[in-house]
Amino acid sequence: MCGMKLYLDFEPCQECKTMMKELSSAEILYADDKIRADESAKFLRHLTYNHSEVVKAVMNDLPKQKRNQEYDWFR
Ligand SMILES: [Zn+2]
Repeated sequence: MCGMKLYLDFEPCQECKTMMKELSSAEILYADDKIRADESAKFLRHLTYNHSEVVKAVMNDLPKQKRNQEYDWFR
């Protein structure tokens, strides 16, 4: 659950909400790594284009966390 605090300063748009719901759905959580990576990348791309301030905040926060968990923050 690390990183959820990031959302305190983040106003997700409808698309975000849909993708976050998908990402936390059992369908994705129990999917294989490739599918999960694809879904994560899709969401990350959306954030990059539509909510760059969030990505900046995440990047600033990342070094404090374990590197291999860098995709865990939006779960
Ligand atoms: Zn969005």
